[in-house]
Amino acid sequence: MSQQKFGVIGLAVMGENLALNVERNGFPISVYNRTSSKTDEFMNTRAVGKNVFAAYSLEEFVQSLERPRRILVMVKAGKPVDAVIEQLKPLLDKDDMIIDGGNSLYEDTERRTRELESTGLGFVGMGVSGGEEGALWGPSMMPGGTEASYRELEPILTKVAAQVDDGPCVTFIGPGGAGHYVKMVHNGIEYGDMQLIAEAYDLLKNTAGLSNEELHEVFAEWNTTDELNSFLIEITADIFKKIDDQGTGKHLVDLIMDSAGQKGTGRWTVMSALELGVCIPTMTAAVNARIMSSYKDERVAAAPQLPGPTAKFDGDVKAFVNMVRDALYCSKICSYAQGMALLGKASQEYNYNLNLGEMARIWKGGCIIRAGFLNKIKKAYDENPQLPNLLLAPEFKQTILDRQDAWREVLITANKFGVPVPAFSASLDYFDSYRRGTLPQNLTQAQRDYFGAHTYERTDKARGEFFHTEWTEAE
Ligand code: NAP
Repeated sequence: MSQQKFGVIGLAVMGENLALNVERNGFPISVYNRTSSKTDEFMNTRAVGKNVFAAYSLEEFVQSLERPRRILVMVKAGKPVDAVIEQLKPLLDKDDMIIDGGNSLYEDTERRTRELESTGLGFVGMGVSGGEEGALWGPSMMPGGTEASYRELEPILTKVAAQVDDGPCVTFIGPGGAGHYVKMVHNGIEYGDMQLIAEAYDLLKNTAGLSNEELHEVFAEWNTTDELNSFLIEITADIFKKIDDQGTGKHLVDLIMDSAGQKGTGRWTVMSALELGVCIPTMTAAVNARIMSSYKDERVAAAPQLPGPTAKFDGDVKAFVNMVRDALYCSKICSYAQGMALLGKASQEYNYNLNLGEMARIWKGGCIIRAGFLNKIKKAYDENPQLPNLLLAPEFKQTILDRQDAWREVLITANKFGVPVPAFSASLDYFDSYRRGTLPQNLTQAQRDYFGAHTYERTDKARGEFFHTEWTEAE
């Protein structure tokens, strides 16, 4: 048997497709899956005629690989990754490299990096985005670890990745868990994008009364615009066209239960932001909206008991559609401003040394949030790498200033008709808070000092000087 150049462990959706992608790009591969029937199925179908070696034990798998070995682990995140690493460790030699391509928690990646590097093995924690199609035809990849490890993988990764006008959608992200951290925030941003689109849909359908055909037209049109052109808007337009294939004749979207699942990366993003003290209300609203959607039975029971406004929309539908488009775009800018601010803070805190413009660039192709808009973010950071917040980039600033009236009008309409728009609202609140030189937390500080002697700073004294007041008169 010839020595294979690359190994993949885990033949579920992502592993199979990445394995075929690597092989198609000229690297003979070995594959292994815990359940051997899945390996058989793969070898007898999609791998037929390809330069793929199927191993039925990890020993056989490891022996089939050229040294130093390059092994991509694509198994369920969490304990399975540790289990596979523990089984591999005694079989590997110094300088062999394990790449964890799953959605691992960045803190697990930090720990695995420390543990493996102390044994002389290389370890790369790599976020992969793009789902099934991306994995096969070119995902966006976010590898973290040592730069030397990345350089060894670079010839393979740059071929396998999605290709856009300014290069492959992969770059060295940073040390330790940096790759998985950036993938986590990518997913948090994805949650925000999806929720904002869902709210636009709700408003257009339940306020302005658009049919699925009309919704298809609107989203297809939005997808041709410079600002909203994106994978998620494109698939949304497609979804409104799909007729149920189970003979009901109805649009499939109307038959799908309104209870959203989540696997954890959105929640992790919110938890990390809270720990780092970064305000990401749009993504938090998106996670909360999925949680609220899961209360299906409770909501159905509450609906007749808690009626909302009954007024009917009698405005100009075309004008409203355009205002919703503006609200969506302004909210999206705020959501990305939050995501980039979180990456910036994590970069400082964990010494990731992230290049934020490069993060936007590698998301331009392959991944779920791919969008023309990411060019504008890259440009903003190219022009000013120290930009404190995307809202201050000249183009975004001007866009929001030009469209904020429409954005506010949409929220007034949503409130008037009782349509929940948590992510639109959170985005506008973010903008309105960030642009205010003065917030009401002077009162919060007074309360804290009143009941807990927590002290406060004064506006007429130097920062860093703290005062306490006896708020009640002695009797
Ligand atoms: P998955 O459903 O997350 O995992 C299934 C794979 O894990 C199977 O190969 C399974 O082997 C293996 N596995 C589970 N427990 C194991 C254990 N204890 N020991 C060894 N192998 C074990 O697969 P996936 O959807 O392809 O995703 C793989 C990774 O990529 C995950 O971390 C996922 O979050 C991430 N990801 C997924 C997507 C997506 O669109 N699906 C996109 C980006 C990233 P058996 O066949 O033996 O059960």
